[in-house]
Amino acid sequence: MYEGKIILLVCDGMADRQVKELGDKTPLEYAETPNMDELAEKGVTGLMDPIAPGVPPSSDTAHLAIFGYDPEKEYPGRGLFEAAGYGYKISDDEVAFRCNFSTVRKRGNELIVVDRRAGRISGSEAEALAKELQKIDEIDGVKVKFVHTLEHRGFLILKGEGLSANITDSDPHEIGAPVLESVPLESAVDFEDAQKTAQTVNKFVLQTFSVLNTHPINVERIKHGKLPANIVLPRGAGKRIKLENFEERWGMKPACVAAGPLYRGVAFELGFKLINVEGATGLPNTNIKGKFEAAVNALENYDFVFVHIKGTDNLSHSKDAKGKAEMISRIDNALPIIMDAVKEGVTFVLTADHTTPCSMGIHSGDPVPLLIVGPNVRRDFVKNFDEISVVRGGLHRIRGKELMNILLDVTHRAPEYGLRPSPKRVRYLPKIWNALKLNE
Ligand code: ZN
Ligand code: ZN
Repeated sequence: MYEGKIILLVCDGMADRQVKELGDKTPLEYAETPNMDELAEKGVTGLMDPIAPGVPPSSDTAHLAIFGYDPEKEYPGRGLFEAAGYGYKISDDEVAFRCNFSTVRKRGNELIVVDRRAGRISGSEAEALAKELQKIDEIDGVKVKFVHTLEHRGFLILKGEGLSANITDSDPHEIGAPVLESVPLESAVDFEDAQKTAQTVNKFVLQTFSVLNTHPINVERIKHGKLPANIVLPRGAGKRIKLENFEERWGMKPACVAAGPLYRGVAFELGFKLINVEGATGLPNTNIKGKFEAAVNALENYDFVFVHIKGTDNLSHSKDAKGKAEMISRIDNALPIIMDAVKEGVTFVLTADHTTPCSMGIHSGDPVPLLIVGPNVRRDFVKNFDEISVVRGGLHRIRGKELMNILLDVTHRAPEYGLRPSPKRVRYLPKIWNALKLNE
């Protein structure tokens, strides 16, 4: 019934390294995962380097690669996806940035980062502060728009002629480090535009400090022993580039079941239909069963359904290995919903977008485990799904950008190399009758 259809489940940052407190096992080895193991036994497994061996991927570049795009040439910058995740499609003359409300303290002429998330400020306080910042609507002729999203997060849009995304971040991504001056990337070919954009960003950052540092909400926060949200730090400049539609590229109608805005943004920009699920939060408490049910239902109208679970990465960033293993078990527990569809002929892919070792709390360049199961998949010997067992799997070690070709092949969509044009270029004969002006 579902022959040729694909469900891709990405558990964000699920891959890990051995953890001492788990008896020297990875969370995936430690977790109870009878269903993942059954699927591994029925399918083919291996390792995947989302970008390249040893390169720690960001989530958006990893997803682009897994969807068969080349992040070297087809990466518009994170800001574009973040804005798109909140339904804001940026235009050609705009540059978008992901932002955090953060806490800084003055040290001489420097602003030192005390907390990158402003003590996890509440959404309502951040919203009130954002209202103040929205009074900054223009800097040196460049239109400025700051939007608060969730908790300490937001995005910034600059609009005007001659703006560039080829600039560095203000956010040093490190506690105790000074806020950085944004400058053009060394590789920037549009140096003058990049210079102008970087200067606008620098002025914006300093203005946010001057507006926020003495704001009554922050004075009140300090009084109650909380960290003030006294600056906004932009990062991940993004500008629109031409991104080919997923359906045009791969000949499959795609849908996305994700709650995290970044993932929804990537999928939206590639032309995926976004499916909303009640109780899907993008956090460890998400409605996993609801998401899997929505994915199976979407097979009715879509060929390629991408399901994203974010909580595994959140727990890795907070170095909670037990919690991560427990969440993996909960994912496994809901898998029978998808396994029923596998029995009906769906091809199912299970993987992670990168490794996030709980010991580090950040992304690493270790490869991730990969599993493909479906009616046309050649089975290997592997009977367990984890980072170590799949080393012996039949897929061996592939790169993220190779996955889509493998999926085209096992769903019988791949044209024989050298003989036929790619599916997207097929034009049916009747369509060219008119052009040829032949008698019918
Ligand atoms: Zn990720
Ligand atoms: Zn992460």
